[in-house]
Amino acid sequence: MDVIDIPLVLAWVREIAAAVEQQEARLTELDSAIGDGDHGSNLRRGFTAVLAALDTLDEPASVGAVLTRTGSTLISKVGGASGPLYGSAFRAMGAALPGETADPAEFAAALAAGLAAIRKLGAAEPGDKTVVDAWTPALAAFERTADTGLAAAAGSAAEAAAQGVLDTVPLQARKGRASYLGPRSVGHPDPGAASTELIFRALATALGRLKPSG
Ligand code: ADP
Ligand code: MG
Repeated sequence: MDVIDIPLVLAWVREIAAAVEQQEARLTELDSAIGDGDHGSNLRRGFTAVLAALDTLDEPASVGAVLTRTGSTLISKVGGASGPLYGSAFRAMGAALPGETADPAEFAAALAAGLAAIRKLGAAEPGDKTVVDAWTPALAAFERTADTGLAAAAGSAAEAAAQGVLDTVPLQARKGRASYLGPRSVGHPDPGAASTELIFRALATALGRLKPSG
């Protein structure tokens, strides 16, 4: 059966933490260009705390329990805009996945709930040069390819997120700190879009590693 189970979702979150650690300097560099240079360290601090929190979560009852704990930890540990935004997204995904497994359609619905939470909190529209500009195309790609299997859907979502990051380059930021720069925010990728790409890539990596594709 092509499902996301509790070990898989734990592997996903650990993979995100590893990617954030590995890419911390790059995320900080992106945020130095159009923000305050703390996006990498914000997420590093958050996901380090998430790893510790997951170690104390013995026998999670559902896929969602792992994601809810992840989200609550991000909200409490990350001071920047990205903490509450990603924290709310993970909590919303957690609430959407009350079972011990999630099939591709259920997981797509959870990713949609995550995006809805980000948009509710941050009020960003597509094109505002934020996380939304990577998560929106990634979700659309996941939904479009969900019936080809989880690993393939996650792979196409990661590719779509990467394109979403590139597409933020010519945009002028209309939300968050980068918006203070006005037209000077043009010509750089959005750091939050870049970290969203990491989140979707980590999903593809976790699925590729733990489940044979197809
Ligand atoms: P801060 O801006 O408080 O320093 P971070 O540097 O951790 O926080 O995160 C910056 C990223 O947060 C931005 O690159 C952008 O993608 C995202 N972001 C900021 N405000 C919003 C918003 N209102 N909606 C969606 N994403 C946002
Ligand atoms: Mg910042």
